[in-house]
Amino acid sequence: MSAQAATKSFGAAQVLKGVDLEVHRGEVVAIIGPSGSGKTTLIRTLNAMETVDGGEVLYRGEPVGYRKTAGGTYVPARDTVVAEQRQHIGMVFQQFNLFPHKTVLENVTFAVVELGKLNRATARERGLELLGKVGLAEHAAKYPHQLSGGQQQRVAIARALAMSPEVVLFDEPTSALDPELVDEVLAVMAELAAEGLTMVIVTHEMRFAEQVADWVVFMEDGRIGEQGPAERIFSEPANVRTRTFLDRVK
Ligand code: ADP
Repeated sequence: MSAQAATKSFGAAQVLKGVDLEVHRGEVVAIIGPSGSGKTTLIRTLNAMETVDGGEVLYRGEPVGYRKTAGGTYVPARDTVVAEQRQHIGMVFQQFNLFPHKTVLENVTFAVVELGKLNRATARERGLELLGKVGLAEHAAKYPHQLSGGQQQRVAIARALAMSPEVVLFDEPTSALDPELVDEVLAVMAELAAEGLTMVIVTHEMRFAEQVADWVVFMEDGRIGEQGPAERIFSEPANVRTRTFLDRVK
């Protein structure tokens, strides 16, 4: 998927000022940069949590969050088009966003059953398999509040995987966690990356980005200040502001 000259304003404030980004299949893209630079807004445009107001975000050649009218123009789509696109573009949020009144297993299987992707028995089997993958099989019958933040986030990851998405977006997945719970979530993400899942990750975890990302995007003030292979960005950033940022946070 890609963004081309993507812009987004909230009222008078332009938060994305023309962003070009390519996400290649099987790659891990880390989006880094100072607070307020537009990282979260950018990742949210990739599955139509926000729609761009200029340029475009494309998935399989189709604009994300829009549908084509009979007249051939694109209008914002909040309905079936977006629901269909989100089946392929999963998302994991900073605050987990689990359903509090559903069990862990139900959180994972709810959407696939509701959308008729899998029957209940198969969804259950698949859900348990995914919970096993994130190390939580024995917690399937519990409710989110009975789990630690790190465990809840791992449930959210299993939920995102349930739909067998092509891409999974992670918006600061460890920012809300106590420091001792961060590593268990990063370990699951590193494993998914090693398996070849396409991932886009907004993160402040620089060591993780350096080790796991293929491509790093440095955002500053609504623009991409610099992007390139992780190895290069972390060893010899071309942009002095990338260097300053990395010196500050590493
Ligand atoms: P980052 O993720 O890099 O911290 P954000 O994308 O969250 O940056 O925010 C970029 C800017 O857009 C900030 O100034 C923020 O206050 C503003 N912003 C983000 N979302 C909204 C919104 N829904 N309404 C108004 N302003 C917003």
